[in-house]
Amino acid sequence: QPSEADWDDLWEQFDERRYLNAKKWRVGDDPYKLYAFNQRESERISSNRAVPDTRHLRCNLLVYCTDLPPTSIIITFHNEARSTLLRTIRSVLNRTPMHLIQEIILVDDFSSDPDDCKLLIKLPKVKCVRNNERQGLVRSRIQGAGIAQGTTLTFLDSHCEVNRDWLQPLLHRVKEDYTRVVCPVIDIINLDTFNYIESASELRGGFDWSLHFQWEQLSPEQKARRLDPTEPIRTPIIAGGLFVIDKAWFDYLGKYDSEMDIWGGENFEMSFRVWMCGGSLEIIPCSRVGHVFRKKHPYIFPDGNTNTYIKNTKRTAEVWMDEYKQYYYAARPFALERPFGNIENRLSLRKNLQCESFQWYLKNVYPELSIPKDSLIQKGNIRQRQKCLETQKRKNQEIPNLKLSPCIKIKGEEAKSQV
Ligand code: UDP
Ligand code: MN
Repeated sequence: QPSEADWDDLWEQFDERRYLNAKKWRVGDDPYKLYAFNQRESERISSNRAVPDTRHLRCNLLVYCTDLPPTSIIITFHNEARSTLLRTIRSVLNRTPMHLIQEIILVDDFSSDPDDCKLLIKLPKVKCVRNNERQGLVRSRIQGAGIAQGTTLTFLDSHCEVNRDWLQPLLHRVKEDYTRVVCPVIDIINLDTFNYIESASELRGGFDWSLHFQWEQLSPEQKARRLDPTEPIRTPIIAGGLFVIDKAWFDYLGKYDSEMDIWGGENFEMSFRVWMCGGSLEIIPCSRVGHVFRKKHPYIFPDGNTNTYIKNTKRTAEVWMDEYKQYYYAARPFALERPFGNIENRLSLRKNLQCESFQWYLKNVYPELSIPKDSLIQKGNIRQRQKCLETQKRKNQEIPNLKLSPCIKIKGEEAKSQV
């Protein structure tokens, strides 16, 4: 760790005041306008502030491998506030043993001002790459991973503050078993006050059939089985922004679906893929990282917020959910007619990796997800006397015509519904 005097030198060279002052909130402006959090409050708080240690007391008793390999920390951002971006990096430099940081890779996803990123390379370990076109967080993370030199990748959002000893327990779990993909407990940085608030540790990631992420309490049985509060929690899905993964494992598993745009859905794709193709997902209670949770996205979605979320989740459903995708479509009928690009590559990835079925995932990883009884989508024929409603494929059209014609009897299938 650099000495106190070295730190002072480093900060002087970087000139924090100049970096922050150039783009400060001005009296009269709406402090929420640019970033959807309170910019004024964020700027009042030191980039160097301490945060409360929110870990369970027992975490102090744990010992971690001493020879953990250094990790590449990857932070992608698009028009992040300078104050939060700097605080993210400084919290990492303050609360991570230096020998565990291979590098901090900032991927500037075509922010309006290239200096937001460039000026930060004066800080120790920090590298900056900039997209010359907006790519969205998935392609930006792939880009960061591509230049990473560490044996593990650690992804963070651009408005985080890491807590005491956050990294060691994560790297330790991955070192023991490289197929584990591990997350910290995500504490809450309040978007109005920037207070750092402890969040419940006995939560895991869950979702519904519309592929909407939600935190879930552990069931009473799961809680009863947890004798040790420091024990990792297996989770069906990760929130997506903050996790550690072995780099070779990340590459082997197919990185990310690079056709996903801007934001959203990639955590489903990655979570299904990790579980179904031989890995596991864990939340590590003794690792804590604060994150500013917002109510809306401050940035533009060029194809619209909903369209983008649907494209990304539809790709996930089509590649990974097998026949269960019908429940996704039942929950999001709008998705049926939306374009979602080509998925050949991802289907062959799944085939080559010989991954388990979605049914396997539901049975073994997420049995709590109940299967709807009355889905909007039902199988069967619609019949009028001798005739059935049949589809007729139209040239160059995804949606076929319907017409009444003699019933085509499919072996073993009886007409269920009659008109
Ligand atoms: N991000 C990005 N490119 C984009 C959209 C988002 O690099 O086109 C970054 C963003 O700056 C943040 C991370 O991806 O660091 C996650 O986005 P955000 O914080 O808006 O998502 P949330 O945490 O609200 O789910
Ligand atoms: Mn975020």
